[in-house]
Amino acid sequence: MTLRIAVGGIHTECSTSSPVLMQPEDFRVLRGRELLNADYFSFLNADGVDHLPLLHARAVPGGPVARHTYEAFKAEFLELLRASLPLDGLYLAMHGAMNVDGMDDAEGDWISAARAVVGPELPIAASYDLHGNVTQKIIDQLDIFAGYRTAPHIDVRETMVRAWSMLIRTLTTGEKPGVAWAPVPVLLPGERTSTEDEPAKSFYARLPDHDAAEGIWDANLMVGYVWADEPRGTACAVVTATDKAAAKAAAESIAQSYWQARQDFQFGPVTAPLEEVLELAEKAETKPVILADSGDNPTGGGVGDRADVLKALLARNFEGAVIGGITDRPAVEACFKAGAGSTLRLTIGGSLDPASPSVEVEAQVVSLDDPSSEPERQAVVKIAGVTVILAARRRPYHNIADFTRHGIDPATVRLLVVKSGYLSPELAPIANPNLMALTDGVINQDIERISNKRRQRPCYPFQKDFEFTAEARYSSRWIDRP
Ligand SMILES: [Zn+2]
Repeated sequence: MTLRIAVGGIHTECSTSSPVLMQPEDFRVLRGRELLNADYFSFLNADGVDHLPLLHARAVPGGPVARHTYEAFKAEFLELLRASLPLDGLYLAMHGAMNVDGMDDAEGDWISAARAVVGPELPIAASYDLHGNVTQKIIDQLDIFAGYRTAPHIDVRETMVRAWSMLIRTLTTGEKPGVAWAPVPVLLPGERTSTEDEPAKSFYARLPDHDAAEGIWDANLMVGYVWADEPRGTACAVVTATDKAAAKAAAESIAQSYWQARQDFQFGPVTAPLEEVLELAEKAETKPVILADSGDNPTGGGVGDRADVLKALLARNFEGAVIGGITDRPAVEACFKAGAGSTLRLTIGGSLDPASPSVEVEAQVVSLDDPSSEPERQAVVKIAGVTVILAARRRPYHNIADFTRHGIDPATVRLLVVKSGYLSPELAPIANPNLMALTDGVINQDIERISNKRRQRPCYPFQKDFEFTAEARYSSRWIDRP
C-alpha cells in the first residue's frame, strides 16, 4: 500500500519591534514539483510513499508578516491540502517564531487550520527551529514534534528528517505517539544560548539520552524567541513519545534544569558597547577581527539598514574595514546610475526603517554586481578607509562567498563588520578574534530594556524574583486517546 503524505509549511521569524512588514516578494515559495526537487526537501524520497507537495513559504527573518501576505499563503496552502485528500499523514516544516500583523500565535492559526482540513485522525508531524515559540494550541494539533538541536543551525536537515521519520514510523508500525510539553518562563536571546558555548552545549548534548529512554521518541529544548512582544513567548521542553509518564518526566526534567541554569547563559564572544569594541578592534594585532553588529542582524529579525557602525568607523578614521553589508536600495540604485569608478554623494542607512541611523558620505563606486534582477543588485563602495557592500534587498553576509563574490577575501581583512549575532559556521572559524557589539536595533541584545507590554509575567529576565516548578502538559489529542 502506498502512503499518501502531504508536505508544506511557512517558515520565518519576526521581531515585533520592526516596522518593516514582510510582503509576498520577501518569501521564497516552493510549490508542486519545485518543492520536491528543492535540496531543502530532498530527503522526501521514501519508498512506498506518495509525496504530495503543498506550499512552503520561507523568508529571511524580519518584521511581522503583512496580514494579506499571510492570508494569501494560508489560503493557497489549505486549498492544496484539501485537493490532496485523502491523506495518511501531514508533515509541516515550520520555524515557529512568525508574527503576523494583528495576530497572536500565527503558527497556532496555521496548524489549526491544517488540522481542520485533515480531520482528527490524521497524524501531523512538525519540525521547528529551536527559536520558535510553542503554545498549547499548537501542541493540541500535533502528534509529532522535532526541533533543531544546534544554534548556529547546522542540523536543519537532520531535524526535518527526525520529524519525517517519526511520521513514517507511526504510519508503518501503528504505534501512536503523542506530544507533551513543559513551558519555562525564561526568554533569552540566541546569542546567550548558542550550542557552541556552555551551558547550552551540554543541555543539547543531553537530549539524545532522553530519546534513548523507553517510550520516548524525541526530546527537545526550545529556547523561544525573545524579540516578539506577544503573550506566547516562552522557552519550553517538547517531547514526542508513546509513554505518557516517560514524556512527562523527560519534559519536566529538561524544563526544570533549564530554569535552574537560567543565570548561567552568557554571550560567547567578547561583548561590549560599540565604542568599546572598536577600541579593541583598533588595538588588535591579529586579523581578521570580525565584529558582529548584533542589534541589526537580519537573520534574527533585524532590519539590516542601519549605518551606526559605518558612522563610528568614519569618525575614528578607521583604515581597512569592510562592512558586509548594509541594505539600502536607493543607494544601490544611485551607484548603478553613477557607474563603477565614479564618486558620488550618498546617504547610507535608514532606507527601510526611518528610525535607523544614516550617514552622508562621499563614496567611490568600486564595483557593481548585477545578477539581472533589481532586488538582487549589490554595489561595493569605498568611503575613506572603509569598504561597504550595499545590498538592494534585506539579506545576511554570513558566507565566505558573499565576500569573495566581490573580490574580497575575508581572511585578509583587518576588520570585517557583519550584521550578525553569533557568527555563522563559515565565519566563526576565521575570526581572530570575534567581537560582538551591543548595537541598537530591533533585535537589541539588551533585552531587559526592550518593549515588554504583552509577554506573560513573570518571565526571566524581565522579572527575576520568582519561583518556578516545571509542569508538563499533554496535547489534547493524547489525552483523548486511550
Ligand atoms: Zn533560529
